[in-house]
Amino acid sequence: MDLGPTSEEDAFRREVREFVAARLPDDIRRKVLGFLRVEREDYVRWQRILAEHGWGAPGWPVAHGGCGWNAVRRNIFEEECFVAGAPRQMPFGLSMIAPVLMKFGTPAQQQRFLPRILTMDDWWCQGYSEPGAGSDLASLKTRAVRRGDHYVVSGQKTWTSFAQWANWMFALVRTGTDGKPQQGISLLLIRMDSPGITVRPIKTLDGGFDINEVFLEDVRVPLDGLIGEQDAGWTIAKYLLGHERTAIAGLGMCKRLLRRLKEVARSQTKRGRPLIDDPRFRDKLSKIEIDVHAHEWALARLVSLEQAGQGLGAEPSMLKIRGSEIQAELGELLMECAGPYAVPHVEDALSPDHAGATAGGAELNPLTGLYLDLRKVAIYGGTNEIQRGLIGKAIVGA
Ligand SMILES: Cc1cc2nc3c(=O)[nH]c(=O)nc-3n(C[C@H](O)[C@H](O)[C@H](O)COP(=O)(O)OP(=O)(O)OC[C@H]3O[C@@H](n4cnc5c(N)ncnc54)[C@H](O)[C@@H]3O)c2cc1C
Repeated sequence: MDLGPTSEEDAFRREVREFVAARLPDDIRRKVLGFLRVEREDYVRWQRILAEHGWGAPGWPVAHGGCGWNAVRRNIFEEECFVAGAPRQMPFGLSMIAPVLMKFGTPAQQQRFLPRILTMDDWWCQGYSEPGAGSDLASLKTRAVRRGDHYVVSGQKTWTSFAQWANWMFALVRTGTDGKPQQGISLLLIRMDSPGITVRPIKTLDGGFDINEVFLEDVRVPLDGLIGEQDAGWTIAKYLLGHERTAIAGLGMCKRLLRRLKEVARSQTKRGRPLIDDPRFRDKLSKIEIDVHAHEWALARLVSLEQAGQGLGAEPSMLKIRGSEIQAELGELLMECAGPYAVPHVEDALSPDHAGATAGGAELNPLTGLYLDLRKVAIYGGTNEIQRGLIGKAIVGA
């Protein structure tokens, strides 16, 4: 199998690189590469720059305003954007609910929502998990009862990323109790400003507030918010999760972290010499660099299988696990560079305007937060244990 790039792919990579270098605003680039907090407006601004150029939706078909790129191009695009310091394109609208709308939505739902996803006029969040329904999603309890021309929804969602910024949520709700737990689940589109919705932030280890609890008390949802058939939401939910999983191999993030690791190791000293020249540190750096290269080739292999219409068995799970492990290791090595300065974590230092006290210099400020933040990659999108279960099932059919 020849996985090397073709000359056409190399040319495309150069085109993306030049575009991002010219059009990504400097203030956003500084925040992203410095691992500082990125605001809602930063994500929206970058998405609109991409959309204006016709690159807003790499994975969508051209008929819906997307690029119609194949998996190889999508991968090159994402990697170049990540490495250059662009904010990630938020997946909740673009690569989760949009493919669902294209496959299961009515023409009216498609016309209403897809253009606004492309320009990020709407910010979507994912209301799947609940207390007691994470890995075992089918045990969810949030109820939706049909009354005339609307549903009445009551229950609680949790770990809802960016619900604090969202004006729409796609949520799994229980509409029936007969049969297996997977039956009687429906997918609803819910306006976040509906009366009866309360969003309560959950503070994460790094001091951030990007995940939330969402409480729903007798929330009225018009019937046109239902996607597909009532009680048939499980199939749709699984289709959506398939899209989520392939996107979280995290190669772009691995490369961004590796590059940062080298920069910090160059600027920090050990016994008066740059840390990067220390033989023991170099060993660790070489090993992780090899791991990132291996991950890159594994992803290239998956992409080429995907291109040939195969390979969505155990492979995405393997990549998800490996990507999360590499990101965690890179976070640990960054902490190692900071030595004793890694211990104090000043949450405010993640703000680009921070001018207060620091330990060891501004470059080291975000490293502890980053290390803590990277713990979560092994959990969201399906925990690593669940991914291992899927690999076992795909290979030995257990
Ligand atoms: C940062 C972050 C953002 C998130 N964003 C969202 C979001 O936007 N929307 C949303 O709906 N959800 C979101 N989630 C929720 C995420 O999908 C769940 O946390 C995840 O599915 C795990 O569910 P749980 O937390 O209930 O853990 P549990 O399912 O209770 O698992 C606890 C532990 O048991 C293990 N375990 C459970 N079942 C098995 C099994 N069968 N075999 C082996 N091990 C098992 C798990 O791997 C884990 O280690 C987010 C989570 C995080 C951390």
